[in-house]
Amino acid sequence: MPRTLVTGGAGFLGSHLCEYLLNKGHEVVCMDNLITGSKDNISGIKSEKFQFVEHNVSEFIALEGELDYILHFASPASPIDYLELPIQTLKVGALGTHNALGLAKAKKAVFFLASTSEVYGDPLIHPQPEDYWGNVNPIGPRGVYDEAKRFAEAITMAYHRTHGINTKIIRIFNTFGPRMRINDGRAIPNFLKQALTGKDLTIYGDGSQTRSFCYVSDLVEGIYRLLTSDQNSPINIGNPNEMTIKEMADKILQATNSKSKITYVPLPEDDPKVRQPDITRAKKYLNWEPVVGLGEGLQSTLKYFKEQLQI
Ligand code: UDP
Repeated sequence: MPRTLVTGGAGFLGSHLCEYLLNKGHEVVCMDNLITGSKDNISGIKSEKFQFVEHNVSEFIALEGELDYILHFASPASPIDYLELPIQTLKVGALGTHNALGLAKAKKAVFFLASTSEVYGDPLIHPQPEDYWGNVNPIGPRGVYDEAKRFAEAITMAYHRTHGINTKIIRIFNTFGPRMRINDGRAIPNFLKQALTGKDLTIYGDGSQTRSFCYVSDLVEGIYRLLTSDQNSPINIGNPNEMTIKEMADKILQATNSKSKITYVPLPEDDPKVRQPDITRAKKYLNWEPVVGLGEGLQSTLKYFKEQLQI
């Protein structure tokens, strides 16, 4: 039975990943310092093969026993979180990734980095293929996340080339689903909360900026396929179904049957104007593509939000 460490395992993606890996027969160690993650996300996991360790991976990681896989998912990931936690975000991307790689080297484990479409910044190429180097403002408000993840990719490849570690890099595009925090600040949680509580939906800018939203179960399937593949180069995982933020707001008003209105507020600095993954590599090398439709994904997310808000 493989033994696997998931850093950030109590977060939105990390907790789904822990469950998926347990179902695949892994023994799972979930490590999290709970600054954006929550024990509620893992409270449903009853397996004896599951262990939670509260620890900040930006500090040295001491873990007894063998490890076969390390999936490094620890990081604030919502723009409002990394704006509030800029130094922690830089530290976990840099020091946390270094510590997790050091552990992978010591344990001879496969190392899997959760990177992001943010490495492409405000992209000048559309859709974004993996060989696009990006358009990032290093000193802008999003730079703390973008540059931390770019550094994380660089050090991951350095450990691969220098120490021969079997490393994987996923570039995750916008993902949604149950266990996103109500106050997470990203578009879908904000719109759902606003629609369900009769508040105006806050569109930043004119709503013409685009995103492409992937349902969490599709993402986790893509992670597992990359983890068990022979690919060491970065691979985009996301849903190419691109839409404007205004279209997404309208879909949420429809899905919730809400009478809320839309209000337009200023666009945050360096907010990418377009984003859509080119998933040619994922299709070719992982035989992966998303299967959950937006409507279906929104319904299960809506159900979770209603439970959380006790509606
Ligand atoms: N956005 C919005 N209203 C909100 C939250 C977000 O219009 O209440 C916009 C945001 O400016 C961005 C898009 O929705 O253009 C997606 O934002 P999110 O924070 O979900 O993630 P990002 O893709 O920017 O990392």
